[in-house]
Amino acid sequence: MERFICVACGTQFPDADSPPAGCPICTDPRQYIPEGGQRWTTSAELASDHENQVRDEGDLVGVGTEPSFAIGQRALLVPFGDSNLLWDCISLLDDVTAQEVDRRGGLAGIAISHPHYYTAMVEWAHLFDCPIHLHAADAEWVMRPDPAIQHWDGEVKELGEGLTLIRGGGHFPGGTILHRSDGAGALLTGDIIQVIPDRTHVAFLWSYPNLVPLPETAVQRIGAAVEPFDYDAIYGAWWGRLIPTGAKDVVRRSVERYGAALRGEL
Ligand SMILES: [Zn+2]
Ligand SMILES: [Zn+2]
Repeated sequence: MERFICVACGTQFPDADSPPAGCPICTDPRQYIPEGGQRWTTSAELASDHENQVRDEGDLVGVGTEPSFAIGQRALLVPFGDSNLLWDCISLLDDVTAQEVDRRGGLAGIAISHPHYYTAMVEWAHLFDCPIHLHAADAEWVMRPDPAIQHWDGEVKELGEGLTLIRGGGHFPGGTILHRSDGAGALLTGDIIQVIPDRTHVAFLWSYPNLVPLPETAVQRIGAAVEPFDYDAIYGAWWGRLIPTGAKDVVRRSVERYGAALRGEL
């Protein structure tokens, strides 16, 4: 039995003797099948030629795979009581990473912005014996069902210790943003709100690789969902993709710019 992982999106599938017939995450038009066709690896093969870096990212700690694998996002360790919440997830979990995360307080929970980062979440949850909080609107995209997965419904879920999950929607119906109230406040957005090279703005799309926009109503909805929260920083999905300060104005300005662009007013 092997634990197959899609090379293009990093999603891990349940134990099987042979690879799945296809990857539903990648055949969905928000993702893509690479030109060379569907390819699979396994957890063991991935661990043989990749490793994780655990290092500071703004006020938090990032966990990302080198060399970059699949979509290339890094996860974040967010202080959660005397432990951590893992925000978003990655495909590789090896012994060195587990020891490093344990040294920093382990995990008391996992929360993930959207299905592109579900990756090997069940493996992480089993090792750290913690729940995974996912929005119920995206339940169909869970490829490895497990009792550790706790689906939540509605617009907001308080996790405690100053951490709140917010449903933004947009890129996926259950697209989730994490608010951290500590200090001046921060949003951890995955790619529900995308940090782009021009840090005076952020972006909102239905598909990032295929560059498909969202309707203006969906973008206004994301803006309205985060408006009640105090925050100064935004952490995006990749190393270095963060807006350290002034992020609330950046989001307001970007929602307005999106509408102006669609109306031909730029
Ligand atoms: Zn895939
Ligand atoms: Zn995505």
